[in-house]
Amino acid sequence: MLSIHQMNTYKPLDVAFTHGEGVWLHTTDGRKILDALAGIAVSGLGHAHPKLTRAIAEQAGRIIHTSNLVNIPEQAALADKLCGIADMDNVFFGNSGAEANECAIKIARLHGHQRGISNPQIIVMERAWHGRTLATLAATGSRKAQAGFEPLVTGFIRVPYNDIEAIKAIAAHHHDVVAVLSEVLQGEGGIVEARTDYLQELRAFCTEKNWLLMIDEVQSGVGRTGKWFAHQWAGIVPDVMALAKGLGSGVPIGACLAKGAAAQVFKPGNHGTTFGGGPLVAVAALRTLEIMEEEGLLANATAMGALLKQGLHDSLGGVTGVKEIRGQGLMLGVELNRPCAEIVSMGLEAGLLTNVTQDSVVRIVPPLIINEAETREMVSRIAGVIKRFLAQSAVVPASDVGKRAAA
Ligand code: PLP
Repeated sequence: MLSIHQMNTYKPLDVAFTHGEGVWLHTTDGRKILDALAGIAVSGLGHAHPKLTRAIAEQAGRIIHTSNLVNIPEQAALADKLCGIADMDNVFFGNSGAEANECAIKIARLHGHQRGISNPQIIVMERAWHGRTLATLAATGSRKAQAGFEPLVTGFIRVPYNDIEAIKAIAAHHHDVVAVLSEVLQGEGGIVEARTDYLQELRAFCTEKNWLLMIDEVQSGVGRTGKWFAHQWAGIVPDVMALAKGLGSGVPIGACLAKGAAAQVFKPGNHGTTFGGGPLVAVAALRTLEIMEEEGLLANATAMGALLKQGLHDSLGGVTGVKEIRGQGLMLGVELNRPCAEIVSMGLEAGLLTNVTQDSVVRIVPPLIINEAETREMVSRIAGVIKRFLAQSAVVPASDVGKRAAA
């Protein structure tokens, strides 16, 4: 229950947790819940990982915050590590995914101005999710999220996802485009993958046009799909990449990485933040990346993701009402043929924490440390809840689904 003093922005589930342990969460009333949500694709190391907990506690005992007005060796070490695994040149640290994308948008605009483009435009995708600050809200492809916050920030041109011809058509008519901003695996948009051939063509087209290719890996990055970053499956390298969520294992951090010309855009005074990349968060993120390497979590995400997906296919494939099982690694979605928000509360009753996006897609983004037995247990709980839901719910006519989505 929210206090009357909390702003009315969420309708939280009727549950709270006292502590966690790996992929398990313990409720205030003594129940144990299997976590298929990981704090919305954040807690890759699961809960209370001993190595991470120790590193954070030790850093808190040394120094938490200093400011970017002084050198922060922990931040420098994180920047070196991150640019190494991402094949990027440099990075700016903020505090959230939205801020990482704000930084990307500012890089694109300044890059445009430096090339004499006074009204720079950024191509963005339908159903994209980039955040709720004013600029990222305008880049986000959800009228529901934008409604009431007009006038929206201008400078974005929207195209369908996975459609290179639409982007080429824009290029033919607009001469002030400076960048494309896109997820490679849409999360809030319903777990929708970009095709490999599309991404490769997009990379080549951006290079040809001298546009920046800016990839939002806030949800899909940091090992979630089995590679450090989901775009690496397509063998491409972006000019700009936004990260957050899994990077700090729940300690708030965002990162905007840049390469080549994009990495040379900012000069002192162009961008900044009080908290970003402070000693505590930098240690949390650096240890997160190191622990992922020590424990082989990329390989684990690939293997457990395949097991989870196969298990879902085996138990739900062919079941009436299940439209598609999709996604990569440990970022999966099960799309049903009807709105299914009730699945979340039914899951909780069955000892499972999950989430529904785009009204009818059950999103599964568990911690990357999940083992085989836990994965099998997760399949069984998810399949059980979905089957029970389908058995007791009626199909809502498509016209009503439209009305609900717009509501
Ligand atoms: N970009 C993507 C792809 C996201 O999924 C999200 C959040 O869900 C964001 C950006 C915004 O991140 P934050 O909520 O940390 O501002």
